[in-house]
Amino acid sequence: MAQSIQAIRGMNDLLPEDTSVWQKVEKVLRQTVASYGYSEMRMPIVEHTNLFSRAIGEVTDVVEKEMYTFEDRSGDSLSLRPEGTAGCVRAALEHSLIYNQEQRLWYMGPMFRHERPQKGRYRQFHQLGVEVFGLEGPDIDAEIIALTHDLWCKLGIADQLCLELNTLGNSEERKIYKENLVKFLEAHFEDLDEDSKRRTHTNPLRVLDSKDEKVKEILKDAPALYDFLGEESKAHFENLQKLLTSLGIKFTINPRLVRGLDYYNLTVFEWTTTALGAQGTVCGGGRYDGLVEQLGGKATKAVGFGLGLERLILLLTTLQKVAPSSPVDIFVCGMGENIESHQLALCAQMRSAFADCGVLNHCGGGNFKRLLKHADKVQAKVALILGEQELQNNTVMVKNLATGEQEEVSRQADVLTSYVAKILKK
Ligand code: ATP
Ligand code: MG
Repeated sequence: MAQSIQAIRGMNDLLPEDTSVWQKVEKVLRQTVASYGYSEMRMPIVEHTNLFSRAIGEVTDVVEKEMYTFEDRSGDSLSLRPEGTAGCVRAALEHSLIYNQEQRLWYMGPMFRHERPQKGRYRQFHQLGVEVFGLEGPDIDAEIIALTHDLWCKLGIADQLCLELNTLGNSEERKIYKENLVKFLEAHFEDLDEDSKRRTHTNPLRVLDSKDEKVKEILKDAPALYDFLGEESKAHFENLQKLLTSLGIKFTINPRLVRGLDYYNLTVFEWTTTALGAQGTVCGGGRYDGLVEQLGGKATKAVGFGLGLERLILLLTTLQKVAPSSPVDIFVCGMGENIESHQLALCAQMRSAFADCGVLNHCGGGNFKRLLKHADKVQAKVALILGEQELQNNTVMVKNLATGEQEEVSRQADVLTSYVAKILKK
């Protein structure tokens, strides 16, 4: 026997019971972004590598170690997208969507990062991304946070997620802060772990979210970014907090929250849960006012977030907030000679009467017991059974599979439809 080939580590198949859950969650996500008046974007999964190195930053974990980069047949360096913001900005610029106009955009799809696979961390994962261009006030920051909060409420998990907020100030303020932070880190250099030592000179802000206990202890005395902010940056942050409070959205300020990518300024936020272990960040975002210009456009204010679908769905299934469901509602079967064409006609009748129901035709005949076993297996709600007698009477045997009750019902369209509708509670 030939050796079987398996999926790539960290890249998961979604099986029918998974996709039924995913579809329900995706429906809530789509409805919510639509209810805020946002428009969908669909970008390619592959982009030029330099889009990501320029947007995300050369010395970030994502670009340094996590990207799937390859040369195509013409020798161009391409990468599978590790996140959606860079591609969304590229597309918006390329098609003049953001030149002197505001845009509220969203997208959903797979992202790729070569990380160590574990619960909640995969090499192919999916994000819902939201990006807003051309608006600078804290009101839009509050709006996208409110949108995520609405999602948690609709999905019944608002009490499981905590909002952490921070501000990174503008690039001038951050530059002066970084100089002070580097001086502080250099003074404690020997006590830092290897990662923090390396980051001290490549990406010092990232040292702030180090998970190393000793580094955390040292950082207690580090200079605080907030003390380096000017009036404008402080006002933006305070106004955002006021807006969130007025919406009844609770938050905590986490001065160590810096986010992994280089392009953020002012507002940054994360929604975290303790229910998933180490991979507790379900959604993260913030402002990135410098990115559009960095990618060759005119300076444009921007804010957005990325929400990890695997982690969200893991949380929902762990808390039993969503369960797999069957795609079949109505099961049609028959016994006897030449019954197939009658079954097919009955299926067609049911599909046109119940457009949003799944109607499954049992193929291959069999005895009554076998047919009902199949109906049970596909978790249908109602079985329609045709036999010689029903054909003669122009009727069908209708069995409510939840109660076991069955009755011979006229095949006259309105009679049958209303009988089945009652069982389906339509
Ligand atoms: P983490 O702190 O877990 O490394 P991140 O800061 O790298 O996350 P972002 O780039 O902000 O993540 O992406 C936004 C969201 O996408 C995360 O909050 C998370 O829910 C999800 N995500 C990121 N990387 C992965 C991954 N490898 N597998 C599954 N989900 C992921
Ligand atoms: Mg990461």
